[in-house]
Amino acid sequence: MDCIFCKIANRELGTELVYESDDVVAFPDIHPQAPVHILIIPKKHLANIGEIGPGDEGLLDQIGAAVKELAAKYQLDDGYRLVTNCGPAGGQTVPHLHFHLLGGRELSWPPG
Ligand code: 5GP
Ligand code: ZN
Repeated sequence: MDCIFCKIANRELGTELVYESDDVVAFPDIHPQAPVHILIIPKKHLANIGEIGPGDEGLLDQIGAAVKELAAKYQLDDGYRLVTNCGPAGGQTVPHLHFHLLGGRELSWPPG
């Protein structure tokens, strides 16, 4: 399958990985929307959060551990935002599950 995030997770593109655990990697977004903008993804190809199912036990725990470690690594002590866009109407453009970790500036709400 021709999936850009699978290739990044497989280290085929030379993208710097800033975090790795058994089932998760993280790397900087190519078009950052904040001073800190990291994408956290499962190594396994899942199209979006709705595809998490049997066999993926512990995946969200690993995402949570990644968030905690990356927030500390990038000194996001004042707070941050964790977002996953799902499907076209949700603004998802890359169909491999990913969580945006955004921080380093004031983030307004609601988002666009
Ligand atoms: P989505 O719109 O699906 O929620 O987010 C996809 C994100 O992936 C976007 O913020 C976009 O900038 C980022 N992105 C797309 N292609 C690449 C790539 O090849 N490398 C990296 N590092 N980020 C990418
Ligand atoms: Zn993929």
